[in-house]
Amino acid sequence: MSKPKWQPSTIAAQAGGAVDPVTGAIVPPIQMASTFERDPDNAYRRGYIYARPDNPNVRQAESVLEALEGAAACMLMGSGMAAATTAFLALERPAHVVAPEVMYWALKGWLANIAPTLGIEATFVDATNLDAIRAAIRPGKTRMIWIETPANPLWGISDIAAVAEAAHQAGALLGVDSTVATPVLSQPIALGADIVMHSATKYLNGHSDIIAGALLFARADALLDRAKSLRSGLGAVLSPFEASLLLRGMRTLHLRVAHQSASAMTIARHFAADRRVVEVLYPGLPGPGHNVAAKQMQGGFSGMLSIRVAGGEAAAIAVAARVQLWKRATSLGGVESLVEHRASVEGAGTPCPPDLLRLSVGLEDPADLIADLDQALG
Ligand code: PLP
Repeated sequence: MSKPKWQPSTIAAQAGGAVDPVTGAIVPPIQMASTFERDPDNAYRRGYIYARPDNPNVRQAESVLEALEGAAACMLMGSGMAAATTAFLALERPAHVVAPEVMYWALKGWLANIAPTLGIEATFVDATNLDAIRAAIRPGKTRMIWIETPANPLWGISDIAAVAEAAHQAGALLGVDSTVATPVLSQPIALGADIVMHSATKYLNGHSDIIAGALLFARADALLDRAKSLRSGLGAVLSPFEASLLLRGMRTLHLRVAHQSASAMTIARHFAADRRVVEVLYPGLPGPGHNVAAKQMQGGFSGMLSIRVAGGEAAAIAVAARVQLWKRATSLGGVESLVEHRASVEGAGTPCPPDLLRLSVGLEDPADLIADLDQALG
């Protein structure tokens, strides 16, 4: 009997659907071995040699992610930063890249300060503006355009299909940090991206209990080979235990993201009309980026939004101090809602306004989340 083509949510719910061939367990066992037996004829027919290049639990989680993103290959690593920096390190040198002015701040810091010492030069542009991206491309020299959409922490939107076209016309690759959108809301490879990156620490795992990263590739070619040899050489593969937790987390990804996106929309609409809030930044609200977001995101606009508090920086920090239900913590995409005064984390040079609070909406009742913010706004 031929196998039916399952929907991504079905594949995620069953963690790929495989049953352990030895025991019949419907949850894959965690395979902790660091080394694997060679066949008597000296071959490694079972496909595993040593657990630094990869391991069975990593391969299980990778195959689920490949299906969710429509990718030819996936590579799981020990953090989102490991995955993102590997995407740049796998480029041929010298490399010029175009990257957003507003993006995950630690990766921007790495691109600005460390990458140049490794033969990678970045030009930072307003990545919500296609003309600005085009103008930054150096024909014959630009090897990759990197975008993050929606982008931390202002939630600007880049047009994935349009940037892919501009990149490919210039002979460059497009890499997309899709951590916030998740494969539930958008699939960049279908829109022309060559590489998709996730901090799997966030929505993919969803329970704030692992650090992990994923790189997905539109093609299994030389770029993938270079990335795999970097992962092995740096010893940056995800461990079996973390991979198993990630696989478990992804079973509920579609439910979580749908609920979090709906709650974020409710919260955004509620505070958009509140005079104690200067501005609500959320691609689900009318405003710049909304139409592109509606075109390239299906089923919601993510569980991330920011509010700018009337009264400036001190007022914003005071609101964060008064919440009882939201947790004051960095990170995002977990089941518990988080609030963060983002400028305090990003420090000097941040494009983040000092009155901004970043909100990661969890799975609590949105009425409770609104009531808590309401009392905290005073
Ligand atoms: N990309 C985005 C959008 C992030 O929010 C983060 C982490 O906050 C990263 C990348 C880096 O991921 P990790 O913390 O797993 O290294």
